[in-house]
Amino acid sequence: MAAADNSGKGSAGRAGGDRKQLLRSLPSVEEVLASAAYAEVVEKFGRRLATNAAREAIDGLRADILGGGDMNADDLQPAAVAARAAAAAARTARPSLRPLVNATGVVVHTNLGRSVLAPEATRAVEAVSLSYSNLEYDLEAGRRGSRHDHITRIIVELTGAEDALVVNNNAAAVLLALAAFAAGREVIVSRGELIEIGGSFRIPDIMASSTASLVEVGTTNKTKLSDYEQAIGDRTAMLLHVHTSNYAVVGFTAGVAVDELAELGHRHGLVIAHDLGSGVLADIPAFGDEPSVFDSLRAGVDVVTFSGDKLLGGPQAGIVVGNAEHIGRMKAHPLARAVRVDKMTLAALQATLALYLKPEEAVERIPTLRMLAEDQGALRDRASAMVEQLQSAVGDAGEVELEQAASKVGGGALPLLELDSWVCAVSPASISVDELAARLRDTDPPVIGRIHKERLLLDARTVLPDQVDALVSALEQALSPAAVGPPAENNG
Ligand SMILES: *Cc1c(COP(=O)(O)O)cnc(C)c1O
Repeated sequence: MAAADNSGKGSAGRAGGDRKQLLRSLPSVEEVLASAAYAEVVEKFGRRLATNAAREAIDGLRADILGGGDMNADDLQPAAVAARAAAAAARTARPSLRPLVNATGVVVHTNLGRSVLAPEATRAVEAVSLSYSNLEYDLEAGRRGSRHDHITRIIVELTGAEDALVVNNNAAAVLLALAAFAAGREVIVSRGELIEIGGSFRIPDIMASSTASLVEVGTTNKTKLSDYEQAIGDRTAMLLHVHTSNYAVVGFTAGVAVDELAELGHRHGLVIAHDLGSGVLADIPAFGDEPSVFDSLRAGVDVVTFSGDKLLGGPQAGIVVGNAEHIGRMKAHPLARAVRVDKMTLAALQATLALYLKPEEAVERIPTLRMLAEDQGALRDRASAMVEQLQSAVGDAGEVELEQAASKVGGGALPLLELDSWVCAVSPASISVDELAARLRDTDPPVIGRIHKERLLLDARTVLPDQVDALVSALEQALSPAAVGPPAENNG
């Protein structure tokens, strides 16, 4: 935090005596706390944070002086230091996790929170959060019940599976399946499926934590049924098929169909598990070839695992469907308690899944599905209206043009699929496009776009309709001359 000196009075090289003089004029924490300007900060944030923020501001200034930074005596007046401390206090008190405008066009963006929930889902979360609930209470029998029962019925209805289980996320679902069926034994996986997702989910690592041992078969691009067959031995417990959701091996490839794998495994008395990653429950053209939960169950898989917040469009969760015996064993495993799902997730997931009972309604109400299914004409109209609003807000500070571009589904799904999309392409008149992107990350709410050929592209597909006004104000603010000068964090 270099102290900006906008008065132009600072000097580059500072004499030692000068520096001592400045250090002596630094106010004490007590002086800052006592300054008239700071009373409001103490009132708003409490004495503890106000005191720590004052100390932080003074320490920062001291470091700046010792580092030879430009500054003058005015910067060290209690009121000026109080303004710095107020900004630091506000930064601490402000929620770090907050809403933003996703203008990247990536619909299921893991870094930006994956799926936006349907209003039905958030209402359900609020209802069970503001009151006690029958989370583990059987209202009919008047005694203890199971949290799993609330969600099983709807999942079974939608998928046709015998039974279902929901855990914290899909990584946990895979871990639990391995621990329940293959601890201390072997699991056969095709080499082409030893995937890593988002840097933290690696099939070999998950396998190691479950104490199952991995047996790799085939090569990166080709695995045959006979490869699996030859690897089956006394210690084999499971055949695991992993959907390579975030990359594709194209060209000279061969894999084994899930139904063939299931048939082989069952002949040898093994458990067949399919990690689908995203899991598709609705028939939407934008989903292309993404494998559906139904196909997997029809193929005879014992346990199918998938995420709640990828293409499903619900809360973070790991959903397991399959036959009653295997799901029952997973529910009874001690790890199930460690990865159990909370009541807010159950409420949001139940409400999201209920929308799937009528597929047209699901596409209308679940934002992830709506964005992926949005008609080209409608998307173009929305983008075009945004371009007009943005251009009239920024005037000659920048040029905003309507353009066609490709957007990605994201979320480790459909790696090769690009959807035609419409973007607002912004060329700033007097700042660099990197500077514009940085300023938009600092607006409230922040706006995240993507830079392409010296322009900032704001993709209409992922901008929520009720965030358009916020986006317009953000761009106006980022391009206004007033935004030039000291870094925004020093403006309070
Ligand atoms: C995304 C993904 C996971 C991890 O799911 P989370 O819900 O993020 O834990 C596991 N396997 C596959 C194939 C995936 O695509």
